[in-house]
Amino acid sequence: MRILVTNDDGIYSPGIAALAHAAGMFGEVRVVAPDVEQSSMGHAVTHSRPLSYKKSPIEFKGIEAYRVNGTPADCVALGTHLWANTDLVLSGINMGPNLGNSMWHSGTLAAAKQAALLGIKAVALSTPVGKTEPDFKALEPWVQKTLALLSEIREHGLYNVNFPANPQGIRWTRQSVRLYDGHIVPGTDPMGRKHYWFTVTPLEPAEEGTDRWAVENNFVSITPLRLDLTNEQELKAAIEQAPADTPDRL
Ligand code: MN
Repeated sequence: MRILVTNDDGIYSPGIAALAHAAGMFGEVRVVAPDVEQSSMGHAVTHSRPLSYKKSPIEFKGIEAYRVNGTPADCVALGTHLWANTDLVLSGINMGPNLGNSMWHSGTLAAAKQAALLGIKAVALSTPVGKTEPDFKALEPWVQKTLALLSEIREHGLYNVNFPANPQGIRWTRQSVRLYDGHIVPGTDPMGRKHYWFTVTPLEPAEEGTDRWAVENNFVSITPLRLDLTNEQELKAAIEQAPADTPDRL
């Protein structure tokens, strides 16, 4: 099995080394990742300049690694083009959670989404960062248990995985979509100019069965996702309440 490993923290992140190492148990691994950090880039793709890659000088215990001057989604597009018949794309392990609303901003998840758009099974993996770096050695058995569980599914799905610092088990979850305050914190730079930090704090607690709930309760959270964003309920209501095909709109 060919496993392409990427991330949005950049090729020098310890998270990608941990993931490449854990993935080695499941098949042949190749790393193709951004040359610099691309966190919160979402699903941006480079279309107005050419992309290039270089073999990475970093050792991934014998694993081939390449760094790309592009976004996480670029890395998947280019990586799967250059390595035909990629069976699985893994993105992470991100230094910071990608729960609930953050799925809309995440570059880690976007790399997995790009693979899903190409018909390849894909998993995004993330973990919170405290004052110290995550203990990737302690997480490794849980990364392997999670990948083994996902390997039992035959569909070419898209999955968002989040590891708490000390997992006690694994749960299937749904996305916790809650409004957040989007608070802007103003400050001043060394030249006396105003600048602003964008912060995200959920306004409501997480419901049981959601990704945020699972991680808050020390479970590995796995959320199956889909590319079709259509709101079926809203579509039905819209057709009933505001029909678009009336004679005056023809
Ligand atoms: Mn990141």
